[in-house]
Amino acid sequence: MNNTEFYERLGVSKDASQDEIKKAYRKMSKKYHPDLNKEAGAEQKYKDIQEAYETLSDSQKRASYDQFGAAGAGGGFGSGAGGFGGFDGSGFGGFEDIFSSFFGGGASRNPNAPRQGDDLQYRVDLSFEEAIFGTEKEVKYSREASCGTCSGSGAKPGTNPVTCGRCHGAGVMTVDTQTPLGMMRRQVTCDRCHGRGQEIISPCQTCRGTGHEEQVHKVFVKVPAGVETGQQIRLADQGEAGFNGGPYGDLFVIINVRPSDKFKREGATIYYQLDLNFVQAALGDTIEVPTVHGAVELIIPEGTQTGKTFRLKGKGAPRLRGGGQGDQHVTVTVVTPTKLNDGQKAALKSFAEASGFNQVHPKKKGFFDKVKDAFDDI
Ligand SMILES: [Zn+2]
Ligand SMILES: [Zn+2]
Repeated sequence: MNNTEFYERLGVSKDASQDEIKKAYRKMSKKYHPDLNKEAGAEQKYKDIQEAYETLSDSQKRASYDQFGAAGAGGGFGSGAGGFGGFDGSGFGGFEDIFSSFFGGGASRNPNAPRQGDDLQYRVDLSFEEAIFGTEKEVKYSREASCGTCSGSGAKPGTNPVTCGRCHGAGVMTVDTQTPLGMMRRQVTCDRCHGRGQEIISPCQTCRGTGHEEQVHKVFVKVPAGVETGQQIRLADQGEAGFNGGPYGDLFVIINVRPSDKFKREGATIYYQLDLNFVQAALGDTIEVPTVHGAVELIIPEGTQTGKTFRLKGKGAPRLRGGGQGDQHVTVTVVTPTKLNDGQKAALKSFAEASGFNQVHPKKKGFFDKVKDAFDDI
């Protein structure tokens, strides 16, 4: 299984950030774009880059690729995601959007039409408890913002972009080519304005005419109580700046919940493993059991067996949909003592006699048991 090739195609390391991946993708796809690079193999290389980016730009597909290689990355989008932000994956800024931001779109679309900026993803790590009770997190990331100097026009303040003198604003040109079959007429992207339809005579010096500038951006995200790993929160307009006056893209905050050393959780149900000694299990006891809502007293009845599960009602996580709280399940393991002193052994022997267990004959230690004991002590 190869799970590094996609990274190699983009020339980034396996722990590259989304930002680095995006930058590398932009650079590579510009380099190998078939309209710009006529070398043999450039087109295949370009396709390979698209394929790699499509997987690595999506945190779920990327995680799956890291684990299983290309075979795993095909597994659909948002499998574990609840998508409570109304996210359906279809509006996500795939490579086509990024592509067209460079090459000005195909001949079929109006190059001057406002276009929404790219969406971004940000993974936020939550503690087990934060995911249950909800929290507010500051999220800080770099994005392409609308240039503050030229307000996104790309033109030096005091000047304006003008209609492209070559394509007269169409963004495309008609080219006639003589072929053996006769004259062929086709549309190509204007090479002066790269399809924008407008030319900037004096570019803004801050953004060099792109209309965008890199910005470190900070937002607060309210994480609702009861979230789980893989779920996403959509923050409208917190993605990258649009084009031609189009709106900003969105930010998708992807939840990652760190495991707890005490509890496990599935949806609204929390699981806890309780060890009892065999006296507690046989005679019954009252035990303090931890829950995320604080400790509660659990009454263990006489004769409790390993595997018995008690339900602490309402001590689980909140239900994201439908309201209310889940339960905590407490599952018992009865632990057999391993080292007994003489007094304990005598007590157990009289217990056996009282129970009529006259077939209890502890075996004498052989050589291998002694060796094993020595290892156990290490
Ligand atoms: Zn500018
Ligand atoms: Zn033009």
